[in-house]
Amino acid sequence: MTLRAHMMDVPLMVSDILVHADNCHGQQEIVTLLPESLQIHRQNYSQTHKRTKKLANALTNDLGIEPGDRVATIAWNSHRHFELYYAISGVGAVVHTVNPRLDPKQLIWMLAHAESKAVFFDVQFAPLIDGIAAMCPGVKNWILLSDASHADKVQTDCLTYEEVIKDHSEDFDWPVFDENAACGLCYTSGTTGDPKGVLYSHRSSVLHAMATMGADVMGVGASGVLLPVVPMFHVNAWGIPFAAPMAGAKLVMPGPGLDGATLHTLIDAEDVSYVAGVPTVWLGLLNYLEANDKRIDNVKRVLIGGSALPEALLRAYEDKYGVIMQQGWGMTEMSPLGTVNVALPKHADLSREDEIKIKLKQGRLVFGVGMRIVDDEGNELPWDGQSSGHVQVRGPWIASAYFKGAGAESFTDDGWFQTGDVAHLDGDGYMTITDRSKDVIKTGGEWISSIDLENAAMGHPGVEMAAAVGMPHPKWQERPLLVVQAKEGAEKDADSIIKYLSGQVPKWWLPDAIEFIDAMPIGATGKMLKTKLREIYANYEFPGVDA
Ligand code: ADP
Repeated sequence: MTLRAHMMDVPLMVSDILVHADNCHGQQEIVTLLPESLQIHRQNYSQTHKRTKKLANALTNDLGIEPGDRVATIAWNSHRHFELYYAISGVGAVVHTVNPRLDPKQLIWMLAHAESKAVFFDVQFAPLIDGIAAMCPGVKNWILLSDASHADKVQTDCLTYEEVIKDHSEDFDWPVFDENAACGLCYTSGTTGDPKGVLYSHRSSVLHAMATMGADVMGVGASGVLLPVVPMFHVNAWGIPFAAPMAGAKLVMPGPGLDGATLHTLIDAEDVSYVAGVPTVWLGLLNYLEANDKRIDNVKRVLIGGSALPEALLRAYEDKYGVIMQQGWGMTEMSPLGTVNVALPKHADLSREDEIKIKLKQGRLVFGVGMRIVDDEGNELPWDGQSSGHVQVRGPWIASAYFKGAGAESFTDDGWFQTGDVAHLDGDGYMTITDRSKDVIKTGGEWISSIDLENAAMGHPGVEMAAAVGMPHPKWQERPLLVVQAKEGAEKDADSIIKYLSGQVPKWWLPDAIEFIDAMPIGATGKMLKTKLREIYANYEFPGVDA
């Protein structure tokens, strides 16, 4: 029998993160490019804590929010959104972050499914709110995230944030309750099916933030200046709003300013050292830097995830701009962090080309994330750097179910979550994603990695974006079709792309056809939408092949 220890069983509470930031890093700043005015706003963690307590009083006294209630946000990254994270979860309610890029019909569905009682929104989304408010009978209050001077931009009957909190007390005793209580609700972006809700707990959010700070994860410390370009409606901005105050790091919130010019201005003016976002954002910034002959010398590391890091992007940032590109992998269901790519001591003497091969892997497992790779029959595969299979995970910040019981088939009987990704693992715990289960191109009994093919194609100088999709083929079951968005002004030359690819991928991987598209369909979280491409190219027939 084991011996019961005498350690305190203190629940992990999200509110304690902000209390700690106030006590120990009170003067550290949150800088926001205000959504309503595009002016810079500064406040420190102590001021933020005071305002958050005022908001907590407003939520409980005026807006009737009770423990367990869902309160939605449709908002950019800002100090107010940060305050909402802490005040809503702090009173025991649940922050339901909504992605404004979703279809209005989906938004209405989501607010009803979550039963959100109040919605806080930025002025940019006023037309969206005016279009859906009448169809959201469950929402009792709409609150514009600004002061009263912007209220005329909304037709819907609404309150304004600064008025709501203005007269409330700066005193509020954060309640202590079960650490397994829900603090956040985020729906998957639906790139692979209907959105499903993931409920984060206080415990999972605090543990995830603690793991995030680690030197070989994001390495967040009090001297860091973090710019989360990844939105707070996309898996809690990858947990940065929790990790930064826990470490006492400065936060720079870009509001709606996600374009290259604005990001460059913020990075430069605020001395940003660490930025995080999806590849499309870094592509935009790169284009801006190149076109305007600008640099980002204060940036030490770029965390890039959400989809695979294209080799051309890695080389451009590291070789031309001297920043370290650090790939991460995860998903909504994993809070999101699963792996982060940091080199091991034994890699110090590698040649640049070998180093790049390692950097293009999705990264090493973060402690706390258990993983296994299984074949179609569920047999575990070895960690040999070759055997690709379905990725299953488990751990304290990984969902054990979806909200209201959706998608039960994603969870195995023995307690693992099926990620829908296909990957292999090596003996150092580096994972390499080869595909999503639904995107693998199955040709003549073999698998082609659509991701590898896309990454190879994106190295061609005329290619801005490329997506490989399996299309039915009478002989091979499926063959790859490569859909390409050409770089502005570049010639749309399929032969040259095929020639370029011939040197990079096995011959049998070469696409049977290339189609050029004016604009790649991009989903709500900035990823290429293969579901949309499959609709566009439904019934596609490869030239010269009889169906
Ligand atoms: P959705 O699943 O709806 O797209 P998520 O934002 O949760 O929403 O996306 C998670 C998925 O994104 C992962 O399952 C994986 O397929 C993909 N992904 C995330 N990071 C990477 C990466 N570094 N490389 C390749 N794919 C990635």
